Amino acid sequence: MPPLPGSGRFAPSPSGDLHIGNLRTAVLARLFATATDRGFVMRMEDLDRVQPGADVRQLADLRALGLTWDEPVHYQSRRRDAYRSVIDEMVSAGTTFECFCTRREILEAPSAPHAPQGAYPGTCRELTAAQRARRHTERPAAIRLRADVASFTVHDRLHGEFTGDVDDFVLVRNDGTPAYNLAVVVDDAAAGIDQVVRGDDLLTSAPRQAYLATLLGHRPPEYAHVPMVLNRDGARLAKRDGAVTMADLAAQGVDAGGVLSVIAASLGLAAEGERVTMPVLQERFSPERLPREPWIFVPRPASVKR
Ligand code: GLU
Repeated sequence: MPPLPGSGRFAPSPSGDLHIGNLRTAVLARLFATATDRGFVMRMEDLDRVQPGADVRQLADLRALGLTWDEPVHYQSRRRDAYRSVIDEMVSAGTTFECFCTRREILEAPSAPHAPQGAYPGTCRELTAAQRARRHTERPAAIRLRADVASFTVHDRLHGEFTGDVDDFVLVRNDGTPAYNLAVVVDDAAAGIDQVVRGDDLLTSAPRQAYLATLLGHRPPEYAHVPMVLNRDGARLAKRDGAVTMADLAAQGVDAGGVLSVIAASLGLAAEGERVTMPVLQERFSPERLPREPWIFVPRPASVKR
C-alpha cells in the first residue's frame, strides 16, 4: 500500500468541453489535495464516449484556470492490460460471474427478496456450465461482481458515514469494455489515490467502489462528494442551458481569470467580481467552510456574443 497521504485526482470523461460545474469540481479537488499535502493526478476516463480532441481542450481549460497536476496525465485507454489482469484474477478467485441478461430482462425480472431496488436480480448468478455454453451461442457475456454484501459504508468529508447499496454490478461490459466502477478502483489504487473529490451525483457509486477496492486488497479512499451546479430549474447544469464552457464564456468576454473569479465567489472564497489566483484560493480554502448547497448558475444564451 502506498504511504499516506497519497494523491487526490480529477478524472474527467473527454466526451466534450468541461462546463463550469465540472471546472468548479476540478478546482475543489485541487484545493482539497493541496490542503491535505497530497499530490494531484489528472486522469482521462476515455474508455468510451470520447470526442476526439476533447481531452486536449479540457486540459487547456484547466491549465488556463491555474490548475497544476503531477505529469503525466493518465489515460484509461492505455491501461486495458491492468484491468484485464485484475479481472483474470477475480475470475480465477470465483468473485465474478458471466451475465447474459439484456437491460430489458433485468428490468422485467422479479427482484430477489430483500434486494435493494434496482439491484441486479441474480438471474445469471448460478448458471451451470452447460447453461452458460448455450447462452454464449446467443450473445457475448458481461462479467459481474459476485457481491457478498448488499451494502457498504464509506467515509465522506461532507456527508459523514454514508451507507449505500452494493449489488452484482458489471465489471466488464459484454463488448469487452471495462466498466467505469472497475476502472476507477483499479486506477485509483495503482496511482496511490487516497482522496476522491467529485460531484455528489456519484455519492451512491462510492459504496460499490469502496467495496470493490476492499475486495482487491486496497484501502478505500477518503471521499468528498461536493455539491453539484444546477440550472435555474434545479436540474443538473448542461451545455444546452447556455454559455457554460470556457469557450462559450470567452465568446461573451469572460476570460479564464473571470471564470475562476465566478467559481471562487460561488465557493465563498472571493467577493463578487474579485480577481483571484489558485494560490490565493488555496490560502483561503478550508474544507469545513465549503457551501453544502448546490450552486445555481444561470448562464446567458451561448449564442449571444458581444
Ligand atoms: N469520469 C467521471 C465523470 O466525468 C468521474 C469519475 C470519478 O470522479 O470517479 O463524471
